[in-house]
Amino acid sequence: MNEHNGSRFAHITKAHPCFNEKVHDKVGRAHVPVAPKCNIYCNFCTRNINDEENRPGVTSCIMKPDDAISHIDDVTAEGPISVVGVAGPGDSLANEETFEFFEKLGKTHPDLIKCMSTNGLLLPKYADRLAELGVNSVTVTINAIDPDIAMDIYSFIKYEGKVYKGYEAAEILIKNQLEGVEKAAKNGMVVKVNSVLIPGLNDEHIVEIAKEVKKRGASLMNVLPLIPLNKMKIYKRPGCSMMEKVREEVEEIIPVFRACTQCRADAYGIPGKKSEDHHLGMTPQSHY
Ligand code: SF4
Ligand code: SF4
Ligand code: SF4
Repeated sequence: MNEHNGSRFAHITKAHPCFNEKVHDKVGRAHVPVAPKCNIYCNFCTRNINDEENRPGVTSCIMKPDDAISHIDDVTAEGPISVVGVAGPGDSLANEETFEFFEKLGKTHPDLIKCMSTNGLLLPKYADRLAELGVNSVTVTINAIDPDIAMDIYSFIKYEGKVYKGYEAAEILIKNQLEGVEKAAKNGMVVKVNSVLIPGLNDEHIVEIAKEVKKRGASLMNVLPLIPLNKMKIYKRPGCSMMEKVREEVEEIIPVFRACTQCRADAYGIPGKKSEDHHLGMTPQSHY
């Protein structure tokens, strides 16, 4: 990490619960569910609108950017929110509303850290635009950098008006994810890479992802256990010992974030403090 990257990293991580385990139970983040559409098909993904499930891809509603700004007005008045993120429930970059939201947020709440997560397919295309909007941190989910492995994780991608499947889809996605990490980091964003650990498929491969993304400028990795849903229902959720082994291997290469409990696309509050972590379905919806 050069000096410039070092100070940028320190500034963001001081107040970001997803980049600093020490503040995961002290400062808050708010997700705004403004991005329902997705441009790829991950075989484990099931997006859902409900109030019950506690996992990514779930929200109790989809918001328009203006409603999302009102929501941020409310939650920042209620508690210590330092980060506002777009984390789906689809892919942030596949929805124009994400950009509209960040533009408005920059005007109404210029001091909040702007964060988003993406599958990375459109990150090379939009990294400059995100930097112009003042987005500070990006999480890119990369589950394989070998197309032979990725083919079993993704059914298809939709890219520049065309649907791609199989090896070709995997190749395009991986190329864009890695270029996207590099471009986002060069543009001044702090980049975290999430990898979903799928036993028997990528458990021995995640360390290779770590080596590559480190070269491309990522600062941090988060290894998440598969939640076996949809076409991956038959896979096992990885146990603690496998999670720990992979995290230790990855930690030899790049810092690993370990406090993540995989929150919803509409979560807000302090993630590491149960009594102060909320999501939208838990509060009256009358103001939407
Ligand atoms: Fe689901 Fe996210 Fe994959 Fe899209 S990128 S299919 S929302 S897990
Ligand atoms: Fe954390 Fe991801 Fe949300 Fe950013 S988008 S606040 S990294 S969960
Ligand atoms: Fe971010 Fe995970 Fe914490 Fe949620 S639980 S705020 S996704 S680090």
